[in-house]
Amino acid sequence: MLNNEQLLRYSSNLLMKEIGEVGQQRLLKSHVLIIGLGGLGCPASQYLASSGVGQITLVDHDTISLSNLQRQTLYSSDDIGLSKARQAGHSLSQLNPDIRITALEEQACEDNLDALIKQADLVLDCTDNRETRYLINHSCYRLNTPLVSAAARGFNGQIIALNPEHSHGCYQCLYPDNVNEPLNCSNAGIAGPVVGIMGASQALQAINYFTGHELNWGYLQTFNGLSQNWQQLSLPRTASCPVCGGKNARSS
Ligand SMILES: [Zn+2]
Repeated sequence: MLNNEQLLRYSSNLLMKEIGEVGQQRLLKSHVLIIGLGGLGCPASQYLASSGVGQITLVDHDTISLSNLQRQTLYSSDDIGLSKARQAGHSLSQLNPDIRITALEEQACEDNLDALIKQADLVLDCTDNRETRYLINHSCYRLNTPLVSAAARGFNGQIIALNPEHSHGCYQCLYPDNVNEPLNCSNAGIAGPVVGIMGASQALQAINYFTGHELNWGYLQTFNGLSQNWQQLSLPRTASCPVCGGKNARSS
C-alpha cells in the first residue's frame, strides 16, 4: 500500500494506466545500478529517483570539473572538485527522500562489477569509455542481468537495450574490435541536450522494464540532433562472439 505522501508524490504515475498503483509498487521494489554520473547518468538518475525507483546505486570515481557543467545537470559551480557520486547521491536524496540511494566513489572495473551487478535488477551503462563498456557487457551476460547502454558524441546519440536471455547480439557483437574510441566528449565536443535525451531515454526504458512493458531488446536506436531523426537497426548475435557465446546466432 502506498502512503499518503507517496500517493501525492507519484500521482502523475498513478494516473496513467500504463503504470498505476501496481506499476508504482514495482518501481519502489526495483534496484537499478547506474555506472557513470556524467551527461548520461545525471538525467537518467534524476528521472529514476523522482519516479520512485526504490533502490539506486551510483558508481563513479571522478570529480566534478568546470567543463562538466555544460551538460551534467546534477552539479553546480560550487561543486567543482567534489566527488560526482557523492554529490549526485546528495542531490537525489533531497529530490526524493522516499528511496534508498547508495553512492560509491569507485571506478567500475573487473574487481567490483560482478558484485555490483548481482544486486541490481537492471544496469544502466552511462560511462564514457569503451573499455569499461566491454567489462559491463561481459559481466551482465555472465550474470544474466539486462543492460541499457547509451553513448553520445557531437550531435549524435545511440542507445541499446540488451537482455542476455534473448537471442540478439551484445555490445561486443556491436563493436568486436577492442579498441578505445578515438573521440570522446572531452576531445570531440558534445551538445548538452543530445546527451540529456539519451540519458532520459535510458531512464524511460528502465521505467518501462520495471513496470512490465517489453523493451525493444537488441535494437540499436540512433538519434541525430541536427535532423532530429531516430533510426533503428537490429543487432544480430555473432557466432564467434566470446561474450554471448554465439548461441542462437544467425548463420552468415
Ligand atoms: Zn555478443
